[in-house]
Amino acid sequence: MLNATLVMERAATYEKEMVNFLRDMIKIPSESCNEERVILRIKEEMEKVGFDEVKIDKMGNVLGRIGNGSKIIAMDAHIDTVGVGDKDSWKWDPFEGKVEDGVIFGRGASDQEASMASMVYAGKVIKDLGLHGDYTLWVTGTVQEEDCDGLCWQYILKENILKPEVVVITEPTNLGIYRGHRGRMEMSVTTNGVSCHGSAPERGENAVYSIAKVVNEIEKLDGRLKDDSFLGKGTVTVSYIECDTPSLCAVPDRGYIHLDRRLTDGETMESAVVEVEDAVKRGGVKASVDVLDYDTPSYNGFVYPTKKYYPTWVLEEDHPLCKAAIKNYKILFGEEPRVDKWTFSTNGIATMGMMGVPTIGFGPANEIYAHSTDDQCPIEHLIKACAWYAAFPTTWCEK
Ligand SMILES: [Zn+2]
Repeated sequence: MLNATLVMERAATYEKEMVNFLRDMIKIPSESCNEERVILRIKEEMEKVGFDEVKIDKMGNVLGRIGNGSKIIAMDAHIDTVGVGDKDSWKWDPFEGKVEDGVIFGRGASDQEASMASMVYAGKVIKDLGLHGDYTLWVTGTVQEEDCDGLCWQYILKENILKPEVVVITEPTNLGIYRGHRGRMEMSVTTNGVSCHGSAPERGENAVYSIAKVVNEIEKLDGRLKDDSFLGKGTVTVSYIECDTPSLCAVPDRGYIHLDRRLTDGETMESAVVEVEDAVKRGGVKASVDVLDYDTPSYNGFVYPTKKYYPTWVLEEDHPLCKAAIKNYKILFGEEPRVDKWTFSTNGIATMGMMGVPTIGFGPANEIYAHSTDDQCPIEHLIKACAWYAAFPTTWCEK
């Protein structure tokens, strides 16, 4: 049986190490597709604390192993960050890792390098306390999530790099247990017209007029999309518009819009495409509807093309994984956790949304600071998350 006090105490002894390691990661800019330096820094720390094996896969993800048992558990942190935007809008240097009043600030603090600091030292706590069992824990530091969520895990699972029976996503949950989120996809609608001289528009067919009709119908479509009591409403919005025209004194022959679609429970790529095709019909025009592709190379040049479709996922509240996550929380902290969902999307879209591997979320920091100039994580969260990660494999095996 797990000794909660011992685990918490041991996690607390690594406060300084976790803070220093997180500050080091913050100091290394690691935007999507440029993560090599931070990956190498994480590998170094995993090796230092005594992981049994540390490797970097072909895509460039770092994978650290503890133990050699039959139950394979993966805990994932994407370690790329978004950019910092206008540096002048920050109250402090986003790459300093400022520490003040028990809080660490900087790009990547909340989303989500803090959880990597906690997971690496969870490995150390497992080793120190001999919390081994019939499990293998893989701690993964994955790339390109901010650019194309889940791509790293499509690769890891489809290419059999790892075969976990469960995955813990460690994106910020403010130490709550999260069991899903809406999916999303990116689509385009293109209309074609006939160009002619702008002085006699009746000779042509204006592609802007036809795309405008589609734009109106997309706004109406958003109002018709279904709601879900847990995940919230599906949404669609026009996020970009352009046209091609041979001259500013001519009728445009191509209209184009980009759609940001958020998918709630039960909505799929197929159903979302059919709805947009129906909206085009309602507009009384001809247009092509496409789901966009992603094929940007990772930092080491590896390409793994995919559709920009990120499926919705929800783990049932009474699933053994959700129950074990809650139990692990109660054992350590002596109270009921908050069970909720993320507002944004995570690598869970691949692990559970595409590949059906039961997935749950638990992470330090509050998601409201993700991508903001207030990006931050309390040091207390680092310690609590470290304890939760160290204890979870044992709790899972004892279920
Ligand atoms: Zn994130």
